[in-house]
Amino acid sequence: MFRALLLQKDDAGSVTAALADVNESMLPEGVVVDVEYSTINYKDGLAIANASPIVRSWPMIPGIDFAGLRTDTGGRVVLNGWGVGESHLGGLAQKAAVPEGWLVELPASLSTLQAAAIGTAGYTSMLCVLALEAHGVTPDLGPVLVTGAAGGVGSVAVAILAQLGYEVHASTGRPEEADYLHLLGATAIVRRDELAGPARALGKMRWAGAIDAVGSHTLANVLSMTHENGCVAACGLAQGMDLPSSVAPFILRGVTLAGVNSVNVVHAKRVEAWRRLASDLPVEKLDAMTTVVPLDAVIGLADDILAGKVRGRIVVDVNA
Ligand code: NDP
Repeated sequence: MFRALLLQKDDAGSVTAALADVNESMLPEGVVVDVEYSTINYKDGLAIANASPIVRSWPMIPGIDFAGLRTDTGGRVVLNGWGVGESHLGGLAQKAAVPEGWLVELPASLSTLQAAAIGTAGYTSMLCVLALEAHGVTPDLGPVLVTGAAGGVGSVAVAILAQLGYEVHASTGRPEEADYLHLLGATAIVRRDELAGPARALGKMRWAGAIDAVGSHTLANVLSMTHENGCVAACGLAQGMDLPSSVAPFILRGVTLAGVNSVNVVHAKRVEAWRRLASDLPVEKLDAMTTVVPLDAVIGLADDILAGKVRGRIVVDVNA
């Protein structure tokens, strides 16, 4: 038996979340991992609060990522995405089992705790940074913007971009987090409400590139304010799923909108992203954005992450 957070749906369609002792025979085929840490990402909040149809198979152990030790080789591994915590039993448990090819071996310099602190949010931030680099956004071209900056994706993105030498502007709805964002490397704070309303087709050009975790009007405004031939890497929907924009930034300024989906990325790109995370994310900044909680705290935190109240990253010690 192992301890897990279990989501169950009854015949009437109502969903309950509770800690449970689960029989190991429930695990699917695959490499068994002794999970040391999982995390709470925005998508986990949606799944646990049943706020969006994230879970596609019941009962489900949520948790879209985990870090731990393979029980066969003892190797230190991290997992992100692949439908884990959605259609495949997830990481908010003491054990998980997944196909071999879904696991990424941890770079030697990262502990399992640090890998979980980075988590899917941080790994997605690095995929966004790689997208900006692939589209030629270099530090000499001007400032870059990060939206939803005090959240998980945003905090890691600010720290990486600053470390790489970019001038980072951080957009937040929590002005009280300005000191935190400056500590991570932001040089300017942009108020969330400056970007939250309907966008003009083209605005004053302010940023050479951006990482957007927010979507909706915010993304539309960011596109309208991106420099000629700049790039916006879009990965999130904290404001909304819609994109009330126009084609003007694309056809008149050559702006690129680079979509980032971390779930089904090929193995080689995951290895590259984790290699870059190990080299480009300063450990002291990762520590500053990380809170560790026990498994029984997760249910209470699901609503907090959906309400935008969580700062940085929450690591779950599944054995605490
Ligand atoms: P967090 O909740 O940690 O961060 C989201 C941040 O968005 C909040 O901290 C807040 O930042 C801001 N925010 C919240 N509500 C609003 C709002 N109504 N309007 C504008 N800004 C808002 O979540 P994560 O960082 O884990 O995830 C961020 C987004 O990225 C989510 O939408 C998530 O689903 C998505 N995501 C996508 C992935 C992919 O593969 N494409 C992978 C991982 C995440 P602040 O207080 O600073 O304003």
